[in-house]
Amino acid sequence: MRLFERISNQGYEQIVFCHDDSVGLKAIISIHDSTLGAGTGGCRMYPYATEEEAIEDVLRLSRGMTYKAAITGLKMGGAKAVIIGDPKTNKTPELLRRFGQFVDTLHGQYVTAKDVGIGGEDLKVIHSQTKHVLGIEGMPGSSGDPSVYTGWGVYNGMKAAAEHTFGSSSLAGKRIAVQGLGKVSHYLISHLVKEGAKIIGADIDANACTSAKAEFGIEIGDAKTILFEQCDILSPNAMGGVFTKDTVPKLRCKVIAGGANNQLATDQEGVNLMQRGIPYAPDYAINAGGLTNIYHELDGYDAKRAWDHVAQIKDTIAAILKRAKEQGLPPQQVADHMAEERIANAKVR
Ligand code: NAD
Repeated sequence: MRLFERISNQGYEQIVFCHDDSVGLKAIISIHDSTLGAGTGGCRMYPYATEEEAIEDVLRLSRGMTYKAAITGLKMGGAKAVIIGDPKTNKTPELLRRFGQFVDTLHGQYVTAKDVGIGGEDLKVIHSQTKHVLGIEGMPGSSGDPSVYTGWGVYNGMKAAAEHTFGSSSLAGKRIAVQGLGKVSHYLISHLVKEGAKIIGADIDANACTSAKAEFGIEIGDAKTILFEQCDILSPNAMGGVFTKDTVPKLRCKVIAGGANNQLATDQEGVNLMQRGIPYAPDYAINAGGLTNIYHELDGYDAKRAWDHVAQIKDTIAAILKRAKEQGLPPQQVADHMAEERIANAKVR
């Protein structure tokens, strides 16, 4: 891998390799861009097959954090860390403490948080070595479960998408197909049901379906075909890569607004959706509620302030979809431009 070429092309600032044989630590911290604030992003622990795979992942994820913070208007930069190893067998308190010490050497240029393989208890161990940690549930000043706020943000973004598409932000009576009935969907559906939307949901986990039906009385569909349901709004809230060259032609929705990460398999799918006349609320903009919430830990967490701030995702999605329509560009591309403009403007000041 030509690492310097790779990182200079996309403007990465700093890649830190953290290594300590005595505790089995191999970690990489990538600070992509700190123009808007300290590089912030979770730490993922995963048994990467190769070091190149770990590097690619941390680069991709940290850049994603820059864009997510920028499009949301947060004074926060983008960063991420990965620890190479199996969280089930390789995660020890010694390893986590050592990782915390490395984070501390950066004096706040990198602020860590949870991600796949690193949970709340792990963060407490990391926090014993550095104060540069956000999102430790149960700690004084902690922002709590991010899914509550992600669901609230997706709901608000969906209202903007509805207004753009149907001329009204009301979701009452709208048929909404929800893929995945996990944490984000749980909170999203609670708002949708209150507003009188007609929901059809599906999950590969039968228990998730049973409990969503029992709690909200929603219709349960087939996980294999939920994407192709005839509906007003399609809301993917499961895994990434759902929109592909094969799935986009089969969609029967009028607009897409969901919280799953990396919904477009490639940028071309954004173009294909636009050509099919289906507005798409860019994933990283509509699902930024959890990040916005945790951001409020930086200056003394206040749940009401965070809640109101997350609701502004409605304005963000409205602005993206409006500009996409005016410029005849896919919304994801427009979101990228808007995020890049915010960073460029901050550099000039
Ligand atoms: P979760 O694990 O609680 O729920 C995901 C659900 O999707 C699970 O119930 C799973 O069984 C189901 N699922 C998986 N594959 C499926 C398929 N093919 N068809 C139907 N259902 C399927 O996860 P979550 O926290 O609710 O996150 C959902 C999505 O939102 C993920 O893509 C996540 O990366 C993204 N996201 C979550 C947050 C957050 O705060 N939790 C923040 C930003 C983005």
